[in-house]
Amino acid sequence: MKIVKESLLHLLFPPRCPFCDGILFHSVFLPPEQVCSECLDRQEYVKEPVCQKCGKPLEDEREEYCYDCSRRNWEYVQGKALWVYKGTVRDSLYRFKYHNRREYARYYGRELARIYGGWIRRCRIQAIIPIPLSRRRLRQRGFNQADLVARQVGKELGIPVYSHLLLRVRDTRAQKELNDEERKNNLKRAFKTRANKVQLDHILLIDDIYTTGSTMNEAAKELKQAGAVRVYCLSISIGRGY
Ligand SMILES: [Zn+2]
Ligand SMILES: [Zn+2]
Repeated sequence: MKIVKESLLHLLFPPRCPFCDGILFHSVFLPPEQVCSECLDRQEYVKEPVCQKCGKPLEDEREEYCYDCSRRNWEYVQGKALWVYKGTVRDSLYRFKYHNRREYARYYGRELARIYGGWIRRCRIQAIIPIPLSRRRLRQRGFNQADLVARQVGKELGIPVYSHLLLRVRDTRAQKELNDEERKNNLKRAFKTRANKVQLDHILLIDDIYTTGSTMNEAAKELKQAGAVRVYCLSISIGRGY
């Protein structure tokens, strides 16, 4: 009965490859594919050398930090990211967010847990918090992409996810349209914690794209002001550090 139900579900909502959006081959006798065979190598994983602070790939392995991190201090302890933000990854994230491909979250979350589960444990993370959307943005989109991914990571690693602890109180303009100074102002008091006191020492923030780091930084700052001791960040994708 379970097999019949699953097959029917796959017929109605066939699982799709997160990179080309093609329908995945499905057999009740084999474990389900998560990515089609043609797309297995189409995404670039972030790998060493990376910036020891934000996790961006670096060109020069003698460098410890990227340009941004060598000239400013962050509120978070360390950040990691899964893929380089370009090509198929960029397209995949676009469909995920704007074409309602919520099912991609399962693969993203599993890959994050597979690659960074050890690091997350070493950081002794007690809670995962997705970067929230403003209420208006959430209404428009219908879901928070970071929340879906955070939930999958939490499920894989057995770590609780707190989706409502952090609030986005101010809608911010797309960061990429702004210069450095505008960016800083744009994020001023963008976040607020719901509880006056956060009783969690080690928190992991999750977002889909790490660009300038300002969003993660503001969220980490807010959590620390509420009582968190160490805040880490994890993103699905990140730009290069050069
Ligand atoms: Zn594919
Ligand atoms: Zn960096």
